[in-house]
Amino acid sequence: MATLYDALGCSPACTLAELKAAYRALALSQHPDKRSGGASDFALVDRAWKTLRDPAARRAYDETMLRSRMEDEPLPPYGDYRLSQMDRRDDLYAADCRCGGTYVVSRLDLTGVGTECLVGCDECSLTISVVDDLSTR
Ligand SMILES: [Zn+2]
Repeated sequence: MATLYDALGCSPACTLAELKAAYRALALSQHPDKRSGGASDFALVDRAWKTLRDPAARRAYDETMLRSRMEDEPLPPYGDYRLSQMDRRDDLYAADCRCGGTYVVSRLDLTGVGTECLVGCDECSLTISVVDDLSTR
């Protein structure tokens, strides 16, 4: 995801003076009055500068950015399971999550003995790794 810093061509470590210089340079080259068809690009640049020049708004934005980056990162598997340890229901294999939810994997998601797939809990954000030790495909 492009950040407001990307819009200005700056890094989150840039000083206010650097952000301002970047904004001015972009405003000169990209302002809709000065070039055709770039209005939407400039709108983002403008919004970036108006947010980041305000220390409180910048801090809030940095926190939001950090949080969304952490959420994007997949959690490491909470546990390692083998298909043969799980409860079988027709073509589905299930295991209980500590939150009370269930990990469910379909036999169709597994591609053969020794392959591994990640299965998410249906209630929380935990993931387990399931190794297929049963399929004959
Ligand atoms: Zn869970």
